[in-house]
Amino acid sequence: MTVRELIQQACIDRVEAEILLADILKVERAWLFAHGEEAVQEPALTVFTNHVEARQNGEPLAYLLGYRDFRSLRLGVNRDVLIPRRETEHLVEWAIECIDAGAQRVLDLGTGSGAIALACKSERPAAELTAIDCSAQALACARANAQSLGVQVKWLEGCWFEHLGVAQWDLVVSNPPYVSASDAHLEQGDLPAEPKSALIGGQTGLESIEHIVEHTPHYLVPGGWLLLEHGFDQADDVAALMQDRGFRTISSRLDWSGQPRMTGGQWQS
Ligand code: GLN
Repeated sequence: MTVRELIQQACIDRVEAEILLADILKVERAWLFAHGEEAVQEPALTVFTNHVEARQNGEPLAYLLGYRDFRSLRLGVNRDVLIPRRETEHLVEWAIECIDAGAQRVLDLGTGSGAIALACKSERPAAELTAIDCSAQALACARANAQSLGVQVKWLEGCWFEHLGVAQWDLVVSNPPYVSASDAHLEQGDLPAEPKSALIGGQTGLESIEHIVEHTPHYLVPGGWLLLEHGFDQADDVAALMQDRGFRTISSRLDWSGQPRMTGGQWQS
């Protein structure tokens, strides 16, 4: 079968079919247009057919490709980690502003693929990045990303602040699980294939965020920052939690689609 026929017959989004075939053939997508009449040989043919079938069955494109681009990095991803999102790129932007304003010791809570920690460290090499996750499999993915990108982060396995001792951080940043366990959105798009532990923040969706807001002050220096990603309708709740806990200079920021998707504040002890 030719390149053109294969793409035409794939019962998935055409651009996704092109991206998958280009990835399998190790060519640029543009190559496919110039070589439409070329025959696709085995084993590429079978791999492509299997990928298209998996995609039809809901497997995320990022897991089939094995990567997702995040800021300037190409991050390896698999079913052990949440697929990095565009919104989280904005959270990194805010973290980098804090680093530029003097935050040197930075902690990424629930790092998953390592996206936040690796992006901060690669864009601000002088910062000291530590990242923690309770999943050994997720940390294996994060470590592999660090190795292939040549970026130095200290990786810790633990549940939130477990094993952190009395360390003092200038900035704690997190994209924690914040979807409610009963949210219908969990059945849509890529979410059914992603780790539930990276998505679900209890019945209310806010349980992990509550835990983080409660405990972070023990680990921050006075004036240190906490930056949290959250759902589009959680900004007021997260700001109130932070206010009640004693954080100050609290504000929320919008993501690329204009939704308030992250809230941060400074610890004033
Ligand atoms: N942003 C993701 C979504 O709603 C959820 C990620 C998370 O819970 N941290 O699709």
